[in-house]
Amino acid sequence: MTFNELGLIPEILKALSEEGYSTPTPIQEQAIPIVAEGIDLLGCAQTGTGKTAAFAIPILQQLSDRHDERRHRHIKVLVLTPTRELAIQIEESFKAYGRHLPLKSAVIFGGVSQVPQVEALRKGIDILIATPGRLLDLIQQRHVSLRDIGIFVLDEADRMLDMGFIHDVKRVVALLPTKRQTLFFSATMPPEIQKLANTILHDPEKVEVTPVSSTAETVSQSVYMVEKADKRHLLEWVLKDPKIDRVLVFTRTKHGADRVAKGLKRADISAEAIHGDKSQNARQRALSSFKEGSIRVLVATDIAARGIDVEELAYVINYDIPEVAETYVHRIGRSGRAGASGTAFSFCMTEERPYWAAIEKLIRIKIPVIGGHPYVEPVHTLPQKPAEQGRNPSQNQGNSNGGRRKFNQQRRGGGNGGKKGDFRSKE
Ligand code: AMP
Repeated sequence: MTFNELGLIPEILKALSEEGYSTPTPIQEQAIPIVAEGIDLLGCAQTGTGKTAAFAIPILQQLSDRHDERRHRHIKVLVLTPTRELAIQIEESFKAYGRHLPLKSAVIFGGVSQVPQVEALRKGIDILIATPGRLLDLIQQRHVSLRDIGIFVLDEADRMLDMGFIHDVKRVVALLPTKRQTLFFSATMPPEIQKLANTILHDPEKVEVTPVSSTAETVSQSVYMVEKADKRHLLEWVLKDPKIDRVLVFTRTKHGADRVAKGLKRADISAEAIHGDKSQNARQRALSSFKEGSIRVLVATDIAARGIDVEELAYVINYDIPEVAETYVHRIGRSGRAGASGTAFSFCMTEERPYWAAIEKLIRIKIPVIGGHPYVEPVHTLPQKPAEQGRNPSQNQGNSNGGRRKFNQQRRGGGNGGKKGDFRSKE
């Protein structure tokens, strides 16, 4: 399935190709035709599945059909989302996918001055992305009117509930025209959220991105507990094993992917990064080199890695632990395909422990922790009383970082010159 097959207008197709999107994600494939038809939608999907584009693209398409340059702009679309970060990201998405369309958007959220937000509203916009509290404030001050809203998106409804915003959401809903299209997104469906969905949706179509909860049984899994700043060294250390001739390394962010690939190249390990900021050509090139075996490591973000189909990919490394447990299952499912045996290593730092616990809970497996490496996280070593220093039994087995850490730090300090502090803060 391609975006072309979803019947999108050329302006949007052009923007998507500039964004480097080649194929729709499952939620996009399912939701775009429904939303473009004006039908209400109940979407069960998490962040990271491409759900923003799943609603933003068909909304832009609908607005462009109806847009009349001569008429005064009024707010036709309201997207309500729980956090400032999400609000900003959503507006960026509307701007990106709608960059060849004559539509305007604005974002409003609390905790900052309302002046520039009011100014943006005053100039006239088509799409408003808002957090509930600031929206209600600005409605009360008559800077915003919801009278002309034709499409309402409630994003991350379950998080609204968790964050105590549900009453504000209900107040906003009460101010919306009853004749409208409503799109309701939630990662989970607790009873209160289901009840809210029932009251605000009209005859909705349901779209669900099925959570996966069983790990590919052929994949052998293990985890390294490691400090943040040591992850890069651990990766090089793991890659000393010549058996690992081709490996897919996952990072959470695009910058992370670039950084890891750069670090590996510096260590003379052939690597390329692929993610959404790279051109389609660059990604294709990297993928072909990886498939041919001319590069050993492909570093990818989750979305970029979708669609990577490499036969006999035996190794996957989770350089970052995914925040969404299901993502882990998708990632390690890249190895061990078609009955081939795969190996998945994960690098888990202290801050990622809660995500790791959620993963183990989801797959109902206690994944073995690898102790015998030079970068063992301190919490995993036996406490050393001063009098016992040097007699730590685990040190003798070589699975403590006690003596070795010192060596590594010296080595790192030397290797990085005065920049050690820099790379730590950037990692
Ligand atoms: P979301 O789940 O909406 O937060 O999207 C997660 C990330 O996936 C964002 O960085 C998007 O830019 C990216 N993305 C969304 N759809 C696609 C697609 N079809 N192809 C590639 N990247 C995408």
